[in-house]
Amino acid sequence: MPVLKNQYRSDRVLRAWVNQHLPQGIRSAIDADLDALGAHAAHAWDEARARTPTQPILTRFDAVGNRIDRIESTPVWQRGAEIATRYGLVAAGHEARHGEYARCDQFLRVYLHHIASEFYTCPLAMTDGAATALKASANDALIAHAVPCLTSRDVSTFWLSGQWMTELAGGSDVGNTETEAWQDGNGHWRLTGRKWFTSAVVGDMALTLARPRGARPGGHALAMFYLETHAADGSWNGIRIDQLKDKLGTRELATAEIHLDGANAMPVGALDHGVRQIAPMLNVTRTWNAVGALASMRRCVALATAYAHQREAFGKRLIEHPLHAETLADMQAAFEAAFQLVFHLTHMLGRSECGLADADEQACLRLLTPLAKLWTGKLAVGMASECCEAFGGAGYIENTGIPQLLRDAQVYPIWEGTSNVLALDTLRALGKTGVGPILHSVERWLQVRQDSPLPEALATAASDIRGSLLDAARWLETHRDDSSRLQAGARALAFSLARAVAAALLWRCAVASHAAGDARPGHALLRFLSCPLSHLSNSTFAPAFDLLDPA
Ligand SMILES: Cc1cc2nc3c(=O)[nH]c(=O)nc-3n(C[C@H](O)[C@H](O)[C@H](O)COP(=O)(O)OP(=O)(O)OC[C@H]3O[C@@H](n4cnc5c(N)ncnc54)[C@H](O)[C@@H]3O)c2cc1C
Repeated sequence: MPVLKNQYRSDRVLRAWVNQHLPQGIRSAIDADLDALGAHAAHAWDEARARTPTQPILTRFDAVGNRIDRIESTPVWQRGAEIATRYGLVAAGHEARHGEYARCDQFLRVYLHHIASEFYTCPLAMTDGAATALKASANDALIAHAVPCLTSRDVSTFWLSGQWMTELAGGSDVGNTETEAWQDGNGHWRLTGRKWFTSAVVGDMALTLARPRGARPGGHALAMFYLETHAADGSWNGIRIDQLKDKLGTRELATAEIHLDGANAMPVGALDHGVRQIAPMLNVTRTWNAVGALASMRRCVALATAYAHQREAFGKRLIEHPLHAETLADMQAAFEAAFQLVFHLTHMLGRSECGLADADEQACLRLLTPLAKLWTGKLAVGMASECCEAFGGAGYIENTGIPQLLRDAQVYPIWEGTSNVLALDTLRALGKTGVGPILHSVERWLQVRQDSPLPEALATAASDIRGSLLDAARWLETHRDDSSRLQAGARALAFSLARAVAAALLWRCAVASHAAGDARPGHALLRFLSCPLSHLSNSTFAPAFDLLDPA
């Protein structure tokens, strides 16, 4: 098996992005931590191959029959909080010292650590999301109580948070939430219900949705509640763990089905519009998802390329076979485009949180969050599959670690909103502001600011990118009044937009790199553009239902 190099030092794309976008002072301040995380990523990969995989274990009863619901985490998870606090994986995004670049700093760390963490980044994402949602609330007492723990750099005070939304009756459609909130004789709020997917039940607190007793049906009537998982004496706070899920991937992550039996809770804000109140959390967890998907892509490309340098077939190394090199270069090009989109998003988030984003930037952040999540989620699955194949038969064998990359990748398009749900969210975002803000931003990125003339291929690429965005704008205008057609085409629209925006950002990187004597991002862009950017169609489709089996 190939040996991974330091994943910070050897990541050309990451290093170029850092050099092009971060001020020198910040680069110097974070270099040592990124270096350490890059070294840890390589070491952890070797270490994981050398041991038998383990999974969390739920013990429901002790030796004398008392219900205890104890979850024993894997060894990597037991060190999770220590690494998270040492490197500020949550904290860095909330600290003021790097201003608008705080989120870039944080997500560079997350990107490097994600695979090594065995999805400990999942509860970290929810922890970050909870801190962000609480800060956006007006509940000063709760902010003072919980946010310092959620963003702590001290392992002894650090808290993990869950985000308990999905129920049997609804994951995408949380308006179906059945958990009831009611007040006991002392006026304390309590929650009764069943949460069907809780990935951070090992944490200290959660933000969750529940319907106050007597409230009307539907999403608007839900309230957002804060609850701590344990009472002061260490016992569970009215929480029963029914079982841990037996999952396709992310097996080190304990995802539980739980019952809330009168758990003590506290409304964070008003007793309605809980979905709106929890939205800041979702924006953050979707960004984590995009960064995680990107990290998986990078790992797949790095491993497949390293393997191609050592494996021989037909008398030469795989990398020397033009068709195999072509396959790997296509993966690399897609990864490079995705990298630009995801890290641009992290910068936008940071600017918005610092109050620096203008109206266009706010609109772009709103649009790019679902776009980046949905596009990178799908891309990561395809790339993990390609990586598997690039290893031949070895890629299908468990102890290479490659099958796990494929299994784990399948989660990115599902949780934090499926591709369809996010495509519909993209329509909502466009419904508010139209395509104007993203067109303006792309136009800004495509303005040439250099002395030497641009290679002709890059100039042509710029007009292809513009053309694709204008196609999307025309498509939206054509179907403006046809809600079914808009919904049916939302996925194609979202993927086209995501690819065009990523291409525009890669174009900007290619031009800057070209000026500095590096032609590789330009080559990546042209390769990325060799697949059509847009798959939008204005033709009249036969109704989808015609093709599908009846109920
Ligand atoms: C490993 C794992 C961990 C998880 N951890 C958590 C957690 O900690 N907390 C939590 O709250 N949730 C968690 N989830 C749940 C996850 O967020 C949901 O499964 C997800 O949001 C989808 O909801 P659902 O399962 O109800 O699917 P459904 O909503 O039933 O969706 C089924 C299909 O229908 C499509 N669909 C739904 N509505 C529409 C529509 N209007 N138009 C077009 N298509 C539509 C979807 O795209 C999907 O393909 C986790 C899931 C997994 C796999």
